[in-house]
Amino acid sequence: MSQRIHFFGFFISENNFILQVLCVHNKFNLAIMKYKHIFEPLDLGFTTLKNRVLMGSMHTGLEEEKNGYEKMAVYFAERAKGGVGLIVTGGISPNIQGWTAPFSARLSSKKHIKNHKKVTKAVHAEGGKICMQILHSGRYGYHPFNVGPSKIKAPINPFKPFKLNSFGINRTIKDFVNCAKLAKESGYDGIEIMGSEGYLINQFIAKRTNNRNDKYGGDYEKRMRLPVELVTKIRKAVGENFIIIYRLSMLDLVEKGSSWQEIVTLGKAIEKAGATIINTGIGWHESRIPTIATSVPRAAFTWVTKKMKEEISIPLVTSNRINMPETAEKVLAEGHADMISMARPFLADPEWVNKAKQEKDDEINTCIACNQACLDHAFQKKIASCLVNPRACHETELNYTKTTTKKKIAVIGAGPAGLAVSTIAAQRGHNVTLFEADSEIGGQFNMAKQIPGKEEFHETIRYFTKQIELQNVNLRLNTKVSTDDLKNSDFDEIVIATGIKPRQLNIEGVNHKKVLSYIDVLKHKKKVGKKVAVIGAGGIGFDVSEYLLHKGESTSQNIDAWLKEWGIDKSLEARSGIEGVKPEFTQSDREVFMFKRSKGKFGGNLGKTTGWIHRSNLKKKNVKFIGEVSYDKIDDQGLHYTQNEEKKVLEIDNVVICAGQLPFKELYQSLVDTGKNINIIGGADFASELDAKRAINQGARLAVKL
Ligand code: FAD
Ligand code: NAP
Ligand code: SF4
Repeated sequence: MSQRIHFFGFFISENNFILQVLCVHNKFNLAIMKYKHIFEPLDLGFTTLKNRVLMGSMHTGLEEEKNGYEKMAVYFAERAKGGVGLIVTGGISPNIQGWTAPFSARLSSKKHIKNHKKVTKAVHAEGGKICMQILHSGRYGYHPFNVGPSKIKAPINPFKPFKLNSFGINRTIKDFVNCAKLAKESGYDGIEIMGSEGYLINQFIAKRTNNRNDKYGGDYEKRMRLPVELVTKIRKAVGENFIIIYRLSMLDLVEKGSSWQEIVTLGKAIEKAGATIINTGIGWHESRIPTIATSVPRAAFTWVTKKMKEEISIPLVTSNRINMPETAEKVLAEGHADMISMARPFLADPEWVNKAKQEKDDEINTCIACNQACLDHAFQKKIASCLVNPRACHETELNYTKTTTKKKIAVIGAGPAGLAVSTIAAQRGHNVTLFEADSEIGGQFNMAKQIPGKEEFHETIRYFTKQIELQNVNLRLNTKVSTDDLKNSDFDEIVIATGIKPRQLNIEGVNHKKVLSYIDVLKHKKKVGKKVAVIGAGGIGFDVSEYLLHKGESTSQNIDAWLKEWGIDKSLEARSGIEGVKPEFTQSDREVFMFKRSKGKFGGNLGKTTGWIHRSNLKKKNVKFIGEVSYDKIDDQGLHYTQNEEKKVLEIDNVVICAGQLPFKELYQSLVDTGKNINIIGGADFASELDAKRAINQGARLAVKL
């Protein structure tokens, strides 16, 4: 017989009560069970981090922007609210010589504290913790006052460094210590000392950049003196109860970098000098091995941190290409590290941690590691953002507030532009119907996701699929909308997001059976022969070539195969992880010849930070690049073209045309004069240099105006 008990003023049966308590308890347990390693607090002795997630340092450009610290306060506070365990700011220089570029952010005097306090206050108000990264660029400083251990120019910087003399080194150490003390006064919970990625400290450590013969150069003991002195002196200055993270380069990936034994020696010395946490750095910026691009497999480098765990007892953080909770949990559960660092995933989704905690993985807006709006922007001195989340770093001006006038909206086309506008407009409270001619959403992303190394693009389609459900967008697949469908409709607003059509070429024989378009190849899976000419050397030409040359499983899905492909020695016997290692990969039995009419290097318009990877991949696969041509005709014999006034013919099985795109705006043109409220976005609006970054951004910005 069940008894009745009194519970918060309600009578319920005891059995029922126990059942409910068990349910709640089990649900809680299950939630903790799935990602229990991520959500285990980390006790640092004097303070405890609520979970194992660190938001890694990223320069966003807000640091140098007018009212940038107010904007940064909002940006970081959103991530703190989103549940991040510990945030690390973008790099702040301890002095002028350490600038990344002229007038970049610096903390070297008390007058700078006021700005930093805005950030620390905002983060603490949301229950977060934040460390400030101290970054001295050394020879990477893009300005004429840059300094280094020796006068050796970086291959990626036109400015040759001045050699720091012993007075200069002492002053630099003082500036680091001063900066750390000012960070503490600004309210930060700690600092991160940037000792990796090839910046100043790394330059002192490696023979590649340090040919001194004083006490900071020569054998390894001397080359590692600077970082050890920095940690020791900073610890003395800031006291015990302040987090010091040291970012240790665990794999330099450049010739004449550190050996594994040297890195272990340094790690131990840094621990002894008083660091609280060691974070993992992979690869110098000048390295020619990708470390965070989308083609790098998820968690490709956590095995390096695991190896260091055998040597060090303070908490170790691992990083690089961790973007979803399952990956993070696996890395922690397998003991690769004590914490996970993710940077770009927090541009893509500030709520990442809270969503993981609630096991709402399918609601996470996943970072696809494209670099298009974050790193590429940083290199172009633009404010960083995110391709999949245009709000990132624009939190004070792009907000999806509820509408006061609910409208009935039709969106035509479920590519990135249409998906962004429809889901955000619906989130704001509008009644949205999304029409798509195809049987699936995604538009051109359905072709992009098939390119080996671009598998992450599936995640964006998954994210939007879930958003359509959550925001109650009325999705109508397999529905090609015509002018008549819309002319007499009762929609308050019509958004045309019909995308593009491929450019048709005016070459004799363009309709020959050998000729295919990229859509024939990627979407309609038409058969392609062994010898192929690709016309056009833009993003799609490169992607199609990669697709055609691919054999077997994509190495982006297999860490060991990927490491071999890039010549990285997992045993770490090779200095820097690469010296003397030959890349191994499967050559395709297909030959690709890439053509373009213009001068200049192939792939020159590809992403600033990723173009070189695509070029390097195709070179390895023996693609022949044929530039400055004009096309004459295509016939049974092959592709006839002229180069340097010489007529040539290339015998091929197929020609694949990837010659750019034009707006698909016929529907728009037929509606503009109907008196209806017609909007146009994405490729339909403007196809030249269109990418998903522009399409999604335009969609989001229209959605807030509707
Ligand atoms: P689209 O994606 O073209 O979508 C338009 C949609 O409208 C389509 O689904 C179409 O079926 C639908 N539609 C058209 N007419 C109608 C109608 N009358 N009724 C109903 N539906 C209709 N961009 C990047 O930023 N980074 C990359 O790495 C990248 N890689 C790419 C790789 C490949 C192989 C390709 C092909 C493209 C790539 N892009 C990339 C480009 C990117 O996909 C496009 O810029 C983006 O998809 C444009 O978005 P959109 O919404 O304007 O148009
Ligand atoms: P694209 O980058 O503009 O390249 C078009 C290519 O076609 C150029 O190489 C051009 O070379 C050639 N071309 C243009 N007009 C031609 C003509 N009349 N005859 C012969 N050749 C001609 O366009 P895309 O490759 O089609 O890509 C479309 C968009 O998708 C791009 O804007 C890009 O941003 C985006 N995308 C991005 C990525 C990425 O990784 N970020 C990947 C894929 C696609 P010449 O003029 O020298 O001959
Ligand atoms: Fe990630 Fe691309 Fe967004 Fe950068 S722009 S955060 S790489 S999805």
